[in-house]
Amino acid sequence: MGIVDEDVVRVREASDIVAIVSQHTQLKKVGRRQVGLCPFHNEKTPSFSVNSEEGLYYCFGCGAKGDVITFVRDVEHLDFVGAVEWLAAKAGVTLRYTDRSESENRKRRLHLQGAVEKAVDWYHELLLSDDDAGTARGYLRQRGFDKEMVERYRLGWAPRGWDALSRRLRLSDADLTDSGLGFVNTRGRQQDFFRGRVLFPIFDDQGRPIAFGGRLLPGDEDGPKYQNSKENVLYQKSRTLYGLNWAKADVVASGEVIVCEGYTDVIGFNVCGIERAVATCGTSLTEDHFRTLRRYAPRVVLAYDADEAGSAASERVYEWEQAYGIDVAVADLPDGVDPDELARADPAALVQSVADARPLLAFRIERLFRRADVSTAEGRARAASAALDLVREHPSELVRDQYVMEIADACRVDPEHLRAQLAAPARVRGRQAGPADLRPPGHDAEVEAIRLAVLRPQEVAPLLDERLFIGAITRPAYRALASAETLHEAISAADPDVGELLTRVAVEESTAEPLDVVARLVGEAVNRALHGLESEARRAEDPLEYASIVAWLKLRLEELREPETVGKAAEQLLAWLTERSEDGND
Ligand SMILES: [Zn+2]
Repeated sequence: MGIVDEDVVRVREASDIVAIVSQHTQLKKVGRRQVGLCPFHNEKTPSFSVNSEEGLYYCFGCGAKGDVITFVRDVEHLDFVGAVEWLAAKAGVTLRYTDRSESENRKRRLHLQGAVEKAVDWYHELLLSDDDAGTARGYLRQRGFDKEMVERYRLGWAPRGWDALSRRLRLSDADLTDSGLGFVNTRGRQQDFFRGRVLFPIFDDQGRPIAFGGRLLPGDEDGPKYQNSKENVLYQKSRTLYGLNWAKADVVASGEVIVCEGYTDVIGFNVCGIERAVATCGTSLTEDHFRTLRRYAPRVVLAYDADEAGSAASERVYEWEQAYGIDVAVADLPDGVDPDELARADPAALVQSVADARPLLAFRIERLFRRADVSTAEGRARAASAALDLVREHPSELVRDQYVMEIADACRVDPEHLRAQLAAPARVRGRQAGPADLRPPGHDAEVEAIRLAVLRPQEVAPLLDERLFIGAITRPAYRALASAETLHEAISAADPDVGELLTRVAVEESTAEPLDVVARLVGEAVNRALHGLESEARRAEDPLEYASIVAWLKLRLEELREPETVGKAAEQLLAWLTERSEDGND
């Protein structure tokens, strides 16, 4: 069900964000803010700030941000409605629900999920006791699955018939299709999606079944060996991690999550006593996965087949490491062996492979050296070059330099040569040019003005005008503030980038003098207009016509620099800018 907007606001206002955040991290008052270690990423110096008056938080380390509702949502792993309900119960607010589309969607999801749940139960019963499932039971026994495991993972058997499940559940065509359990065939008849397969139900992080992975029995050839449910409203591959519902507790306790490729790998880890494994379902690791994982643990260990780990989309992984404050390491699995096989062949080796996990870059360089010929000078130089190519992908200079030293040692070359080689092409590729160089002039003053507009609106609002902002983020930010009644309203109406800026400045301090900031912005806006006037004058028949206005503007700009006259000059120039833009020159 959706919750009436008004009640969401009441819950937000009735909730004490400092008290709630304080249950997860210790906050200290610094100026107007409360500062502490971020509960969403691992850090040693505090970069998490709370503005208690506005009820907003922002982390300068990982970018986590929002209000008390998003905080509870992320930290308690709830959805929006769940988080509002959680807070309402604490604050003693009675909620009213709407019947609008959001709650319709919610109802629909619950309904479909109920269907999947029934399918899980039915398939499971068949696997346990149906005559037709004998081969499947034999196969699982031979793979080391005992009854307890079959029950824990709710494994099932999809019979070979075309429509056994469809006939059993009697869903509408739409429900059958939307739940991923079946489809309507070309003759208009309901047909099951899974047939003749051992099923591994896939659960969401709350433990609700949302989809299946199905495996053919050895010798069967009806389709691919592994088949997952198609994506639908319940199940999105890029967001789902198989096993997270079981792994959560151990992941949080150990600060580490193991990511493997398949559900049997997760089960393999569990059999070896390691409960903190999850699997991507038929897809490689995505940013959405990282976003989910960073709520649980600061360290990810990839337990992929070594070749695949080596070729993982490393540049993106490094970016995500930085963006989400997660360290990514790679388990030291033997070549060509997956965790499921190793769990059965040599459980101790699987446990050890995780204990020996190394950072992704170290792993890739070691693999390269293992295959390189380092017995000759030429071979070592080639290996050094190839290793530098790997190092170059890493965004942190400090990290890069550590590896330069190791490569220099291993290849017996002078680290200075390697540093020079590393620096040269990097500059050509423009990696050194951070966003700082791309900022338009005046950006800092614009951000300062937004900060003041958020923190001290009464003082600064009468002095500001949309024409003073040219930044791609700051201008819409000002517009959002000017057209909303509250900061929360501005943030929720704005684009994500703009909302991010507004949330961030709300937890910052401003010691700036409003009039100084306004004077800088006005000065910059007038100088832009002056450029325009000067080129108009060059093309005009009577350039002198412009001389008096240019002279007047320049006098006012002088006055902007003097404390006694700045207020009046700013006001006059702002009026002139307004008039000019109304004449169609902006
Ligand atoms: Zn953080």
